[in-house]
Amino acid sequence: MGLFDIFRRHKKKEESQTQSESMASVATSVTESLTMANSPSNSATLSTSEAASITQSMSQSATVSESLSVAATESPTESTSQTESVSQSLASASVAESISVSEQFSASVSTLPSESVSESVASTVTSESLASPAPSTAGEEEAADQTEKKYDRGLEKSRTGFGARLNRFLANFRHVDEDFFDDLEDMLIESDVGYDMAMKLSDSLREEVKLENAKSKQDVSNVIIEKMVEIYEEAGKGENPDLQMAAEGPTVIMFVGVNGAGKTTTIGKMAALFKKQGKKVLLAAADTFRAGATEQLDVWAKRDGVDIVTGPENGDPAAVVFDAVKKAKEEDYDILFVDTAGRLQNKVNLMNELAKMKRILTREIPDAPHEVLLVLDATTGQNALNQAKLFKQSTDVTGIVLTKLDGTARGGIVLAIRNELHLPVKYVGLGEKVDDLQKFDASDFVYGLFKGLVDVD
Ligand code: GDP
Ligand code: MG
Repeated sequence: MGLFDIFRRHKKKEESQTQSESMASVATSVTESLTMANSPSNSATLSTSEAASITQSMSQSATVSESLSVAATESPTESTSQTESVSQSLASASVAESISVSEQFSASVSTLPSESVSESVASTVTSESLASPAPSTAGEEEAADQTEKKYDRGLEKSRTGFGARLNRFLANFRHVDEDFFDDLEDMLIESDVGYDMAMKLSDSLREEVKLENAKSKQDVSNVIIEKMVEIYEEAGKGENPDLQMAAEGPTVIMFVGVNGAGKTTTIGKMAALFKKQGKKVLLAAADTFRAGATEQLDVWAKRDGVDIVTGPENGDPAAVVFDAVKKAKEEDYDILFVDTAGRLQNKVNLMNELAKMKRILTREIPDAPHEVLLVLDATTGQNALNQAKLFKQSTDVTGIVLTKLDGTARGGIVLAIRNELHLPVKYVGLGEKVDDLQKFDASDFVYGLFKGLVDVD
C-alpha cells in the first residue's frame, strides 16, 4: 500500500467519525431545544433569541435527517429501522422550520410530537449503530481505533520533531539544487532514519521527476515523504511482523538486549496480552545476574496472574531455563517467555551465556526458541542500532521490540532498523502501562509519524 493510500484510508475513517460525532451533537441540541420548548414554563417565556436558536437547530436537523437517511442506506438492516424512525421524526420536526415567527413558534412546537422526537433522537444517536455500521465487528473496530490512538499519542514527539525539522528545511527551499540535497541529508540524519536511508533517499530523489515539477513547499514535502515510505516498504518486503508460533507444544520466546532496554517490562506486558487470549503462560527469570531482576519479573507474574520459574541470585541462568522449559513441556504451557541478563562480566561472556541457553531450549524442544526478540530502547537512537548489529552477529535474532517510542522524538529509527538490519520490528512499546505494548503495524506507524505533514485530496 502506497503512502497516499494509507493517508486516504485514515482520513476517510476520521471524517466518517467526525461526521457521526457532529450528527450526534446536532441531534442532541435539537433534543435539548425540544425539551426546553416543550416544558410549559419555558414556552411561555421563550425569548426571541431562544426561539431563533431553536429554529436554527431545527434547520440543522434537516441536514441531520438527510445524513441519517444516507447512513440508513449504508447501514445493515438492524440500525436501518431505527435510523428511519429518527429521520422521519426529524423530518416532521423540520416542518416547524417554516413557521419561524417567534410568537407562533412555541405554539407550533407544542403541537409536535416533541417528546417522542427527543426520545427517539436521543436513543438512536447515542446508540453505537451510527458510529459503527457493522455491529458484528464493532469490537474489532474499537480495538483498531484504540491501536491507532495509541500510535497517534506514542508517536507525537517523533512527529512534532520530524515536522519541525522538515519545516525548517523547507523554509530555506528556493529550488532543487545541490544545497537542497545537502540540507535534506542533514535533516534526515538528524531525524534518526539512519545514514543509509538518508543517502538512498537523496539519491532516488535526484532522479525523481515529481520533485522537479514540485511547485510548492507542500509538493516538495509530499514527494519526500512519499519516497521515504516507498523505500521503507520496499526494504520490508518479505518481512513477517507476526510472532512465529509452535505448530504444537509450547512456543518459546527469548528476550535479549542491554540493561534498561525494557526486556522485563516487555515480557510483563506481553504475558498479559497472551493471558487475555486464554493462553497458558510461563515466565523464566533467567536474569540471575542483576540484583532485583527476578523480583521485578515476579511482580509482573503476580500482576498478570501467570506462573514463573526462578533461581537463586547469581545462580546459573541456564539452570533456570532448563527447569522452565521442562515445566512448560510437562505441564502443557502454550508459551514460555525467557528473560535474560543484559550484561555479564564482558560481552563474550554474555553472548556465550545466551548461546548456552539457546542450546538447552533446543535440546528440549527442537524448534525452540521460536523467536529471539531483541529489545531496543528507541530513545538511544543510533546506539540502539549499533547494539542491534552486535547482537545480530552473535545471536540469531529473529525480531525487534522497540520500546519507549512514547518518550522520544526518534521514531525515525524504525526506518533505519528496517533498512540497515533487515530485522522485522514485531512489537513497539508506546508507554509504561501493561496495555502500552502494541503489535507493530507499519501503516499505523507511518501515519502516526507523518500525519499532518502530508496533504492528500
Ligand atoms: P531491562 O533491563 O531490559 O529488563 O529493562 P526494564 O524492563 O527493567 O525497563 C527499564 C525501564 O524502562 C523501566 O523503568 C520501564 O518502565 C521502562 N520502559 C520499558 N518499556 C517502556 C516503554 O515502552 N515506554 C516507556 N515510557 N518506558 C518503558
Ligand atoms: Mg530486566
